[in-house]
Amino acid sequence: MEAANTIPVNVAESRGRSHVVTGVAGFIGSHIARSLLDRGDHVVGIDHCAGHPPGITARNLAVNEGCDRFTMVRGDLAEIALEPHLRGADTVFHAAARPGVRTSWGAEFPGYARSNIVATHLLMEAAARCGVRRVVVSSSSSVYGGAPDGPVPETHLPAPLSPYGVTKLAAEQLAIAHALREMTGPTVVALRYFTVYGPRQRPDMLISRLIASALSGRPLTVNGDGKQRRDFTFIADAVRANLAAMDADVEAEVVNIGTGVTTSVLDTADLVGEVTGRPVPLTFAEGQAGDVRDTHADTTRAEAVIGYRPAVELRDGLSAQVAWTLRRRDVAP
Ligand code: NAD
Repeated sequence: MEAANTIPVNVAESRGRSHVVTGVAGFIGSHIARSLLDRGDHVVGIDHCAGHPPGITARNLAVNEGCDRFTMVRGDLAEIALEPHLRGADTVFHAAARPGVRTSWGAEFPGYARSNIVATHLLMEAAARCGVRRVVVSSSSSVYGGAPDGPVPETHLPAPLSPYGVTKLAAEQLAIAHALREMTGPTVVALRYFTVYGPRQRPDMLISRLIASALSGRPLTVNGDGKQRRDFTFIADAVRANLAAMDADVEAEVVNIGTGVTTSVLDTADLVGEVTGRPVPLTFAEGQAGDVRDTHADTTRAEAVIGYRPAVELRDGLSAQVAWTLRRRDVAP
């Protein structure tokens, strides 16, 4: 069993609730943790810190590490003893996963299965033993595969087109099976995010790459014709969904977290060009196996079940991400 490196903090002074955030060194997990700390809650963050190069991991962790209500546990969810870190937690926000559609084919798959499926199973078992009240699972629109025209509701039959999508479907359904198994276990809300973007977005994701290309002038290769459409969700909306899911009165639910608005890759590139004042140079290549043509969320159920309503339009969210990128100064303006 791998030793976890725990940095103890003094939790005696605050009256906030205590939570666990997995994947806290990542894009979405770091934002969830920050918003919980900003409310006055305590957060134990768990991450093996291997998902990103060390500089990005350190940058994401720095957002929370200065707070004395934050405890960092460095360890692999599939290896470490989880109970010591889950005991006393009200809610576990499970954002850890191995992301990325294209690299999930071939030799990489066992790593996906381990981080996305096995780790979720072990986390749910430990959460039940520790009396955790609620687990909020970060799931993905990739569970749908090729969706019909128009917004896709949660009742649409999942048919993932990539090994990654299969592991995300397995993870959310595992969590729900655990929730339904015994009434003493944690209740579960799984959030099927539709492409999340904003400050600290993973550098491999489309909007990060469009901004980097605009600012550097280096061409970006688009796989396919660029007419594929995405429902882009700003990080603040995804975080609000997590906070709403924490206290929603449900036993086991899956909801879409998107905006209901879709934008083509070409139009997104144009918008990035307008916001940065520099056009994005594009080149085109073949589409990739596992890529979904369009994504489009029906958020009716999310509004009914957890009271989620998206608030940030793409142009405003892009402006925030561009401003953050320029502040970091690691891409020459
Ligand atoms: P990210 O890679 O930035 O963050 C994931 C974090 O999990 C990383 O810091 C990584 O080190 C950690 N991790 C992975 N496996 C682990 C393990 N076995 N033990 C401990 N830590 C581990 O990714 P993200 O974009 O922040 O995504 C967060 C979650 O949201 C993931 O579950 C992802 O599948 C889901 N999701 C993200 C998007 C999106 O647009 N970013 C869309 C749909 C779903």
